[in-house]
Amino acid sequence: MKRYSAFAVVKEAFSYHQGWERAWRSPEPKSHYDVIIIGAGGHGLATAYYLAKNHGLTNVAVLEKSWLGGGNTGRNTSIIRSNYLQPASAAIYELSRSLYEDLSQKLNFNIMFSPRGVLMLCQTEHELRAMKRTSHANRLAGIDTELVGPARVAKLCPIINIDGPRYPVLGGLWQPRGGTARHDAIAWGYARAACAMGVDILQQCEVTGIDREATDSGGRVKGVQTTRGAITCSKLAIIVAGNSGVLAEMAGFRLPIESLPLQALVSEPIKPCLDIVVMANTVHGYMSQSDKGEMVIGGGSDGYNAYTQRGSFHHVEETVRALCETFPIISRLKMLRQWGGTVDMTGDRSPIIGKTPVEGIFINGGWGTGGFKSIPGSGWAMAATVAKGEPDELAGPFGLDRFTEGRMIDESVAAAVAH
Ligand SMILES: Cc1cc2nc3c(=O)[nH]c(=O)nc-3n(C[C@H](O)[C@H](O)[C@H](O)COP(=O)(O)OP(=O)(O)OC[C@H]3O[C@@H](n4cnc5c(N)ncnc54)[C@H](O)[C@@H]3O)c2cc1C
Repeated sequence: MKRYSAFAVVKEAFSYHQGWERAWRSPEPKSHYDVIIIGAGGHGLATAYYLAKNHGLTNVAVLEKSWLGGGNTGRNTSIIRSNYLQPASAAIYELSRSLYEDLSQKLNFNIMFSPRGVLMLCQTEHELRAMKRTSHANRLAGIDTELVGPARVAKLCPIINIDGPRYPVLGGLWQPRGGTARHDAIAWGYARAACAMGVDILQQCEVTGIDREATDSGGRVKGVQTTRGAITCSKLAIIVAGNSGVLAEMAGFRLPIESLPLQALVSEPIKPCLDIVVMANTVHGYMSQSDKGEMVIGGGSDGYNAYTQRGSFHHVEETVRALCETFPIISRLKMLRQWGGTVDMTGDRSPIIGKTPVEGIFINGGWGTGGFKSIPGSGWAMAATVAKGEPDELAGPFGLDRFTEGRMIDESVAAAVAH
């Protein structure tokens, strides 16, 4: 793989930039792989990368029904933070945040990580108490967050209407090392680096069936049926976000996951006026400003199950209303684009990573509205789990068995509207 560098850009300029290689190969499927990963979103591609990098497994294919990064990974608002309440979540989200810090160098691909700081507003006494508890938990877990008062909020974000027409700002949970990154670049960077180590990425290759052989327990994986033919494998990882339930059904088991539409929108570009990410969870909206100057806006998920990748209009209206009262300065902006994804929600708002009832099949899903921030940490933990056949320390608490054993990892406060 030709390295990207300033020197390479200058050198290529002499040949009219005709010498660049394709970022990843488009090979024909082999008949067998040691590991097949279904889903070329950020989590699937990061898993492939760490399987090759950390565990030396390169006879790996990532199967994608559409184009890589075209699912939720290419549709999110790219917020990165690790201020979760429970120790198991803090561990994986903080590993992830820290991996983001030098990911551009590791992948030799500019992911545009911008640790500009994330502020979660407290607009009720109840929310203030909940965030105080989270900030104590974060400190114990070694995560750098701080509970700040209204004066500091006003300083961090001068465009906030501190007195608010309905909910005055009472404070906020501030994570200075949180931020954003370019979402597509995460998928492209992991794909390019994984491909360079020998991983096959097969786009336009939809998995239509999962072949199993009978065993005394729940069966064992043999391979998959795809729109590009049958492929056998020793291990299979299902990493398909909103389609987790569909793939689990093909494998013969059920998941405690619901699929819901979640949408986002951007405004016309304006001059820089917001240099942090702000989330207003009480009124249900959050906002950051992109490098191009657009205000990037998100809200809550729809209240019904669907696979539409669209979302309902009244949510756009509610989100914009919430943000106009929090940031009156945006009230005359035009909205340019709106889009949606299908998020995979569990009851405790924490992911599922680990083994399934079928031997050789592993699952990584249920990241819901907040799995962009966790891509590096999730890929790291999933790769270790698949390579060793057993969940590693990070993945252990997130097994499917927690739903039957009642070991919930309740992150409903951390995950509410705040992605
Ligand atoms: C509007 C919106 C805003 C969000 N904002 C944030 C945010 O600010 N911060 C944050 O941390 N998270 C956010 N999220 C959540 C985050 O985007 C997801 O949790 C994360 O991207 C999930 O990544 P993934 O790789 O698991 O799934 P995806 O990126 O969805 O990848 C799964 C892939 O599987 C493929 N697939 C499905 N079925 C098959 C099949 N049968 N065969 C082959 N391939 C298949 C799909 O085509 C898809 O490409 C947001 C989500 C949305 C929708």
